[in-house]
Amino acid sequence: MIDLRSDTLTKPTAGMRAAMAAAEVGDEQFREDPTTNALQSRMAEILGHEAALLLPTATMANQIALRLLTHPGGLLIAEERTHVIVFEFGGPAVHAGLMTQPLSAEAGRPSIEAIRTAAEGSESRRDASVLVLENTHRSSGGRVWPVDELAAAVDAARDLGIAVHLDGARLFNASVAAGVAPSAWGALADTVTVCFSKGLGCPLGAVLAGSRELIDRAWEEKFRFGGALRQSGVLAAAMLYAVDHHVERLAEDHARARRLAEGLANAGLPVDVDATETNFVAIDLAPLGLSYDDAEARVEREGVQLGFLRPGVMRAVTHIDVSDDDVDRAVDRIPAALGIRSGVGV
Ligand SMILES: *Cc1c(COP(=O)(O)O)cnc(C)c1O
Repeated sequence: MIDLRSDTLTKPTAGMRAAMAAAEVGDEQFREDPTTNALQSRMAEILGHEAALLLPTATMANQIALRLLTHPGGLLIAEERTHVIVFEFGGPAVHAGLMTQPLSAEAGRPSIEAIRTAAEGSESRRDASVLVLENTHRSSGGRVWPVDELAAAVDAARDLGIAVHLDGARLFNASVAAGVAPSAWGALADTVTVCFSKGLGCPLGAVLAGSRELIDRAWEEKFRFGGALRQSGVLAAAMLYAVDHHVERLAEDHARARRLAEGLANAGLPVDVDATETNFVAIDLAPLGLSYDDAEARVEREGVQLGFLRPGVMRAVTHIDVSDDDVDRAVDRIPAALGIRSGVGV
């Protein structure tokens, strides 16, 4: 089976496991875990902030950020298929008491007009509200925000008196694809999340970065969420290993995704090669006249698993455990499975 459902499927490599086994550890709740402390300093610098905090998941990091930056009754403004809106089970309402204003946007990047209209059209207090931006943007197919465009969105939020959280779960993918340091985007926002259990290949882990004052408050929230840990150096060692060994190699995942997109498009599938900027390939089912369940079953019969991108669109995701050979075989099998005979162009 060629499993292209998600980059969360990565398993720790031998090198990562060795780093975990050798980790120096202490009690994190006493702030005595040296490897966790080292990871946090390293990530603060990489993300362009004063401080950073290790958390078990990026979902917890996002939810804590929303609590830090807002007050109940405030407004969460974000593109309509942003992770915080679609995949966090109502967390913004439950944990932060926020109302949600979803915006439709091209490539997951809301326009300045849309942001202004949302904020100005609401009775919510601006100082209780937040704009959440996602880079790369998952549901548009791993699209990258150009730095100047994200900066303009942040400026608009600042003018409106709204805080900004950057969900950079895959910020390292954006960084490698654009050839830009993560801090170029990270420093613009009040808080930034990075997830380590996606393309970076860790078994779990995330980081939230921000000012010293915000991260001190995040430390309390981490306890409240039940996310305070003990000998977390075992995890932090995997994360430091990923920063050293698994960032530059994301370029290989991106090249494989691109090759897969080209192969599928050449075979006649509705795949936008130019929109394949990082490690996701989006396959639009509407032109094929297939339901999601039908398409899923058809590719599985041919030995390929694809994942959910957004309604009506499947994704193929490359990561450290997907080889060139897997891509070649997927290029052969997916078009046949979805009813396209190979060699027939659009
Ligand atoms: C996966 C993901 C998250 C959540 O990460 P977890 O560590 O699984 O909680 C948040 N935001 C985006 C954009 C993601 O893709």
